[in-house]
Amino acid sequence: MGHEELLARHRAVMPDWMALYYEHPIELASASGRRVTDREGRTYLDFFAGILTNAVGYDVAEISDAIRSQLATGVLHSSTLYLIRSQVELAEKIAELSGIPDAKVFFTNSGTEANETALMLATQFRRSDQVLALRNSYHGRAFATVAITGNRGWSASSLSPVKVSWVHGGYRYRSPFKDLSDADYVKACVADLREVIETTTAGDVACMIAEPIQGVGGFSSPPDGLFGAFKEVLDEYGILFVSDEVQTGWGRTGEHFWGIQSHGVTPDAMTFAKGLGNGLAIGGVVARGDLMDCLTANSLSTFGGNPIATTGALATLDYLLDNDLQANAAKLGERLIDGLRDIAADRPAVGDVRGKGLMIGLEMVGPDGAPDPARAVAVLEGTRERGLLVGKGGLYGNVIRLAPPMTLTEDEVEEALGILEDVL
Ligand code: PMP
Repeated sequence: MGHEELLARHRAVMPDWMALYYEHPIELASASGRRVTDREGRTYLDFFAGILTNAVGYDVAEISDAIRSQLATGVLHSSTLYLIRSQVELAEKIAELSGIPDAKVFFTNSGTEANETALMLATQFRRSDQVLALRNSYHGRAFATVAITGNRGWSASSLSPVKVSWVHGGYRYRSPFKDLSDADYVKACVADLREVIETTTAGDVACMIAEPIQGVGGFSSPPDGLFGAFKEVLDEYGILFVSDEVQTGWGRTGEHFWGIQSHGVTPDAMTFAKGLGNGLAIGGVVARGDLMDCLTANSLSTFGGNPIATTGALATLDYLLDNDLQANAAKLGERLIDGLRDIAADRPAVGDVRGKGLMIGLEMVGPDGAPDPARAVAVLEGTRERGLLVGKGGLYGNVIRLAPPMTLTEDEVEEALGILEDVL
């Protein structure tokens, strides 16, 4: 079956709202390291890593071998009602890495389900259906997670099981506080948070949920003190804090293992997914023990934490830690940002280069500084033609997102910079 026929069949049977990248969408046939090859035999350097699912690159022997040995037992999955050794071991490691006192872990199959779980815990614990979220956020595609998603392009439902109040602190580049210094920006966001709590809520808010760096929102990275300052206010009101680490976890920001640690904050709960499975479907919540244990009825996920996913995730985590990929993300992220800032210096169409570690965003703007989504599409297509895959995002679809696997090499950074310079 040819490419065009597959595309036509996709369009006939999949929903209209299921977006595909590229005018001629890619079908992958194989992958290795940081490179993927499509069915037509073209190989690309992958700087989007399957929307950050591929933390350590493709076809990593240590991970594939671990999964294969689990497959060889014949137990792909039976039931989460039985003991699963790899699940317990993975939970112990994540609990320890979380820095959350008395932490407990619950596994899911996705980031959406992880955030739904965190919301259920926080709202039950506080007996309140009020939630604070950041404008321009993305937290998932189910009922409550869509409701706390502050990005119109991804707000598939306008109905909500929770009462949401929106605060500033996400998309700085186009916020009313854009021109303030870091310290004044933090102050302005804190004042806004306080005002929102005092005016639009009944005061007994369950939690704030936030991404330390907004992912779908275009890799906007707030000043380091922001969430520490938010946390002080939340503590005054007894409001819980949930850090959505679905994109920022596993050392990707280069500075710390979790994105929120750059703000000196220990959250009440963190949610994770994407990179942990290095391609396998796994997500979860790590939370304070009393918060995790607040549910009084049974609740489980049939596949959450299944033996294949947790075996693969354990091998991924070991690989990340043994090879200190966080340090690699820090070093190569810095080189990438420096290189991109040089490229952007004489290209007014790149309005902003931002991010941390291997989460870097380029804000594409028109001559008047307005968002330029058409230019972002042109960059996406142009880089693809030259053998580089990048992502797109932001409230206006005008941000190019770079998030390669954390096993990236210096040569690959230079190769990508060369292509981006050419295309931009
Ligand atoms: N939270 C964040 C920060 C995300 O980026 C995403 C996915 N883009 C999700 C949650 C939802 O994860 P999933 O698609 O695995 O449900």
